[in-house]
Amino acid sequence: MLQSKLFPKTLREDPRDEISANAKFLVRAGFVDKLMAGVYTYLPLGLQVLKKIENIIREEMNKAGGQEILMPVLQPKENWVKTGRWDSLDSLFKFVSHYSKTEFALGPTHEEIISPLVAKVSISYKDLPLYIFQIQTKFRDEKRVKSGILRGREFLMKDLYSFHADEKDMNKYYEKMKTHYKNIFDKCGIGEKTYITFASGGSFSKYSHEYQTITEAGEDKIFLCEKCKIAINSELNQNACPECGNKDLKEKKAIEVGNIFPLKTKYSEPFGLKFTDKDGSQKDIIMGCYGIGLSRLMGAIAEINHDKKGIIWPESVAPFKVHLIEIGESAKEFYKDLQKANIEVLYDEREDVTAGEKFADADLIGIPYRIVVSEKTTKDKKVELKRRDSEKIKLIDKKELLKIMEHVG
Ligand code: ATP
Ligand code: MG
Repeated sequence: MLQSKLFPKTLREDPRDEISANAKFLVRAGFVDKLMAGVYTYLPLGLQVLKKIENIIREEMNKAGGQEILMPVLQPKENWVKTGRWDSLDSLFKFVSHYSKTEFALGPTHEEIISPLVAKVSISYKDLPLYIFQIQTKFRDEKRVKSGILRGREFLMKDLYSFHADEKDMNKYYEKMKTHYKNIFDKCGIGEKTYITFASGGSFSKYSHEYQTITEAGEDKIFLCEKCKIAINSELNQNACPECGNKDLKEKKAIEVGNIFPLKTKYSEPFGLKFTDKDGSQKDIIMGCYGIGLSRLMGAIAEINHDKKGIIWPESVAPFKVHLIEIGESAKEFYKDLQKANIEVLYDEREDVTAGEKFADADLIGIPYRIVVSEKTTKDKKVELKRRDSEKIKLIDKKELLKIMEHVG
């Protein structure tokens, strides 16, 4: 990609209406644009990051046996009345058709849609377990939206729903999902700061589990057991680690990036979601649900990976692998070489921009590898290589560099 063509341009100043670090940098660097509080456009750079996160999650959900579907955002009132959530869920966006006066909801989550969908099919014990997921835009009428893309009124979520013949089978899958979730957060580069956290299980289960990423921008308070590498959400009022009994817990601020929840029969009951067992009897299907907020995850990654100058993307989700910068000497040939080697590269060939401005933009955007071609480097038939997360600059032979780039990330 040629940087002269990239939409939009970076901004010199922090946006005045953003307080959180993720939003300040993402807006300034041109990853997202704020339409109104809690609602953002994903611009070319931002969409690249979101798609990389999406691919990591999709790959892991496929490995977990998930079948991908896409459910409607526009939903009938009846489904929400049936579970009582039409009245009890404060964040439900509701509106009326001005033609028919029919009432609708905009989907904040999809238990009310997936449960009757599966109930339409006659399910036998042989069809279970069943795992269905989607990656889709959700709507929630959030009271406070001040943390950039960490909390949106419109945001992207992966939600997987599992269906089982009994609780034992659900528990087995629930444990397996913990491994898949760990893989996702590790691959997105936030594994070290993300803790599996005991949270309330609602009226149907003792616990659910959240994945909490430690950051000052987070709105949740958790208590860490450093020995077990787990945490407890402060809403549980527990003063000891549920695994080892340790009472020496550390209080931290964190943001929930994912959540796994044993629903049991909470939604199968109201929608008559049953299966036919071996003996011909009809039994309630046991459900679990597993969510991850993709846009929130992107915000959390930016929140915990930045310095004063800008974002420092982990390689796995960076919009490009290489930021190629030319200073007074064309880097076009090397740009072609990088492209030929299938290395994702943003090429700063702008003529009306100073070297200082180019470096400032590179730091702000946060692509993992910066390569500079200048008169000085060309004289030695070399290029200059610098990682975004290090101050070291290395002069290196072009061929050698291509080899290194093919093997990293
Ligand atoms: P929170 O407590 O932070 O409001 P939640 O418990 O309501 O989140 P869930 O219903 O468990 O969230 O949704 C699943 C996932 O969707 C969350 O783990 C989070 O990653 C994401 N998510 C939830 N609400 C938002 C939001 N308003 N903006 C962005 N992502 C969100
Ligand atoms: Mg939750």
